[in-house]
Amino acid sequence: MTEETIFNRILKGEIPCDEIYRDELCLVFRDIQPQAPVHLLVIPKKNIPSLKEASHEDASLLGHLLLVSAKVANKEGLESWRTVINTGESAGQTVFHLHLHVIGGRDLLWPPG
Ligand code: AMP
Repeated sequence: MTEETIFNRILKGEIPCDEIYRDELCLVFRDIQPQAPVHLLVIPKKNIPSLKEASHEDASLLGHLLLVSAKVANKEGLESWRTVINTGESAGQTVFHLHLHVIGGRDLLWPPG
C-alpha cells in the first residue's frame, strides 16, 4: 500500500489549507513555503502520484488542471507566471500527489536551478 500524502489529507479536510479555488476535479491552495509573492498549488482530487503515473485516460483532467492554473493566476492579478510540475525526487518532487505549482509576482530566472 502506498503511504498517504499530506495533499490527500488536505483533500479529506484533515489538514487545513489556504484554499482559493475548488471544483469537482481539483483544489487550489497557497503553498505553505512560498517561493514568490504568489505561489499556488493545483492538485487533482484523483490520486495520481506524479506525472509519471498519469495515463491517457487522465488527458482531460491534466488539461483541466492547466486551465485552472491559468484561471487562478489571472484571479491573483498575475501578468506573468510560471507553471511547474516536479516529477521525481531529483527534480525536487517532495509530495507524491501530482500537483502544479503556479509561481509569480516577481521576476523569475531561467534556467531554473
Ligand atoms: P514539490 O516539492 O514539487 O513536491 O512541491 C510540494 C510543495 O508542497 C512544496 O512547495 C511545499 O512547500 C508544499 N507543501 C507541503 N506541505 C504543505 C501544506 N500542508 N500546505 C501547503 N503547501 C504544502
